Amino acid sequence: MSDCIFCKIIEREIPSAIVYEDDDIIAFEDVNPLAKVHILLIPKKHIASAAELREEDGAVIGRIYLAAKKIAEEKGLAEDGYRIVNNCGKNGGQEVFHIHFHLLGGEKLGLFV
Ligand code: AMP
Repeated sequence: MSDCIFCKIIEREIPSAIVYEDDDIIAFEDVNPLAKVHILLIPKKHIASAAELREEDGAVIGRIYLAAKKIAEEKGLAEDGYRIVNNCGKNGGQEVFHIHFHLLGGEKLGLFV
């Protein structure tokens, strides 16, 4: 999608610190980290939000969780734990309308980060 900032990251039209990529998923450092480790994982397919998910998107969402687990292990988060967050829509606090999952860790997190 031409006006989507995360699609532009996928296309390398704007820079980001990419930590993981495969055919369907990309993960990069959040530009405004809310924890010592704050990574965003997104599908390469433009899906606006969790509210827009279709049956056929189930596999990639599952694979995002597996990628988050792998990144968490690589970043040394697995032992002490971490949080995976998806904000959906205006009331959920979503600011970027390309579905994404926040991987947060590296310190004890409050109820809301
Ligand atoms: P949300 O509020 O769930 O939509 O989260 C959007 C996240 O995207 C925020 O944590 C922002 O800091 C992050 N963000 C926005 N633009 C960029 C960017 N160009 N590179 C990395 N992270 C970004």
